Amino acid sequence: MPPIPPDRQDMSLPGLVGCRKCPRLVEYLGSLPPRKGLERADYWNRPVAGFGDTGARVFLLGLAPGAHGANRTGRPFTGDGAGDFMYPLLHEAGFASQAEAFEMGDGLVLRDLYISNAVKCVPPENKPVAEEFNRCRPYIAEELKRLSDLRVVVALGQGAFTSYLRLLKSQGVITRLSDFPFGHGAVYRMGDGPWLVASYHTSRYNIQTKRMTVKMFRDLLGRVAALAAGENG
Ligand code: SF4
Repeated sequence: MPPIPPDRQDMSLPGLVGCRKCPRLVEYLGSLPPRKGLERADYWNRPVAGFGDTGARVFLLGLAPGAHGANRTGRPFTGDGAGDFMYPLLHEAGFASQAEAFEMGDGLVLRDLYISNAVKCVPPENKPVAEEFNRCRPYIAEELKRLSDLRVVVALGQGAFTSYLRLLKSQGVITRLSDFPFGHGAVYRMGDGPWLVASYHTSRYNIQTKRMTVKMFRDLLGRVAALAAGENG
């Protein structure tokens, strides 16, 4: 199992790496076949913690680890198509120290950005079920609590967006999820909390079908950077 290098920048959430609260996901982790040419021992195959700048103003929340990306490397969006799309644009926008993200210990450092997933264990067919979102939501709450300078939450995809809204509802910040429809580029502010920016996911499928393009994500990051800097227009 790969060691955790010092540049991991994770928050070391208590109980996360050994968490086994979701039986379906634990079973899946125990049976997931490795990619051709690799062994199961080459895989992280555990809950994947968030990583990045713990003083960040921007929190990017994805859905769940990719089977052969984050679940293999142990770091969100690292080693698969979603990250290959995203990190060059994060680097261009000044949020990432380099455009490449291929494994823990590759030197990548995030600035003013923390990245995590709504569900920390890889789900079958990339589809967590409602109970899995619910069980994992306290970890998001803890991450948010520790990001004391937070100004913008970027939810990648409807699953992450809805899970974040459910958290706000459980905290009494909002009353109805339907007041906040999902759409790429939608921006909301609830009270004096952080902005919420919705984005289509950077999944390989969305990229191949051009539902998500380089221009769309670049423009979105520009808006996110402006909101983080206090420009509300
Ligand atoms: S998805 Fe979250 S709550 Fe479920 S086992 Fe993994 S870390 Fe635990």
